[in-house]
Amino acid sequence: MAGLTDLTAEQAIAALRAREISSVDLTEAHLARAEADDWHAFLAVDRDGALARAREIDAMPERPPLAGVPIGIKDALSTRDLVTTSGSKILEGFRPVYTATCVDRLERAGAVVIGKTNMDEFAMGSSTENSAYGPTLNPWDRTRVPGGSSGGSAACVAARQVPWSLGSDTGGSIRQPAALCGIVGVKPTYGAISRYGLIAFASSLDQVGPFARTVRDASLLLGHMVGRDPMDATSLDWPDPIAVPDAERLDGVRVGVVEELMGEGVDPGVRDAVEAALRTVEDLGGTLVPVHLPHSRYALSTYYLIAPAEASANLARFDGIRYGHRTDHAENLLETYENTRAEGFGPEVKRRIMLGTFALSSGYYDAYYGQAQRVRTLISRDFEEVFSQVDVVASPTSPTVAFPLGARTADPLAMYLSDICTIPVSLAGLPSASIPCGVSDGMPVGLQLAGPALSENRLLATAHALETALAFDTRPPGLA
Ligand code: GLN
Repeated sequence: MAGLTDLTAEQAIAALRAREISSVDLTEAHLARAEADDWHAFLAVDRDGALARAREIDAMPERPPLAGVPIGIKDALSTRDLVTTSGSKILEGFRPVYTATCVDRLERAGAVVIGKTNMDEFAMGSSTENSAYGPTLNPWDRTRVPGGSSGGSAACVAARQVPWSLGSDTGGSIRQPAALCGIVGVKPTYGAISRYGLIAFASSLDQVGPFARTVRDASLLLGHMVGRDPMDATSLDWPDPIAVPDAERLDGVRVGVVEELMGEGVDPGVRDAVEAALRTVEDLGGTLVPVHLPHSRYALSTYYLIAPAEASANLARFDGIRYGHRTDHAENLLETYENTRAEGFGPEVKRRIMLGTFALSSGYYDAYYGQAQRVRTLISRDFEEVFSQVDVVASPTSPTVAFPLGARTADPLAMYLSDICTIPVSLAGLPSASIPCGVSDGMPVGLQLAGPALSENRLLATAHALETALAFDTRPPGLA
């Protein structure tokens, strides 16, 4: 059975189509690894549901496009009747009454959901250590974090518990864990994928996206999710289908190297791996152009006003009345609210709610939230200027490789700095991918690529050409 869990999704689909393997056997092989779960990547595994769906797909006269390939879903995405917690005690045991549009689209296309993956509580964090259910471990080194907030979704793909998974990215939560676990992660253009059924963190930034071991697999998954959904007014009519890239050259492609994200604060080993990968751009016929994002130095401050402000509003719905946990210790309605939230939310979530409520409070709104929105516009304009000169921009995805468990938990600011390279792109709403590009200190290094809004096809083509040339081995050393 080990061979089945080494297949990429694309290879599995081909074998399923040719009826060389069955979805039941493929799903069973992945379930066995997901249940053994030495990394705590999963919060819940749905053996019965997954096998029932695999049997249905095997019985179809014609296989659907995704042919019965298993997938892991971040626990921030609602799945009907399947416990969905967003990594929080406040939603312990919560069973949604509907499924997120993106998951629904994948299931209709023939994906088999095998379980829900671990994450930082409400997607707030960069290491998965803020999960109320305990951290996920990095398949490359169990003493280190997998990144976050979608750490479970990254680890399960690296550990071959599933060929692919879904995460969500608000400030880096797909790209950073993809980088730290040595796999591919894609955050599409804001609005590409419906957020209906994604438990909201910061609505103007949240985007769903795929994790996979190849850019082609990630593209395939993305292609089945994009497009307008009447349930999400910010979802876009998608202009042209997502192509599964195959070109191996970069002739004529201009790659901007973001100077501000290559210098101070970036680990020398990470910088070396990224610079080596960038030389490959030239080998493939592309050109490197130094570019500047002068306002990117304000991105972290801007993000930590906007994201908590939106979170404080979004999380107001967890009041002990409508869903999830309700306190046993209340004499009246106000105490119900207060004690439910005091008991149900973890420390990072409380910190963000306080920060956000303060930033939005009367008398401070203009000085903080209003100002942050203005700086956000300046950051977007920096990108517009850069994209008048180049097709894509490149930088490290994370300034360091995966750090030891516990290394940043006592210092929120050190944790926030993990996303210094990914946050500017998020504020501008642009599509971005992380691909593994080398190793430092025995751990994978991610290369971040980003392009103008809606330029997914060119971005993915560039990522695929580089990935092919770099030939990174995504298999963690020592993986059984
Ligand atoms: N680490 C960042 C934060 O804590 C980003 C998280 C995310 O993208 N969901 O907010």
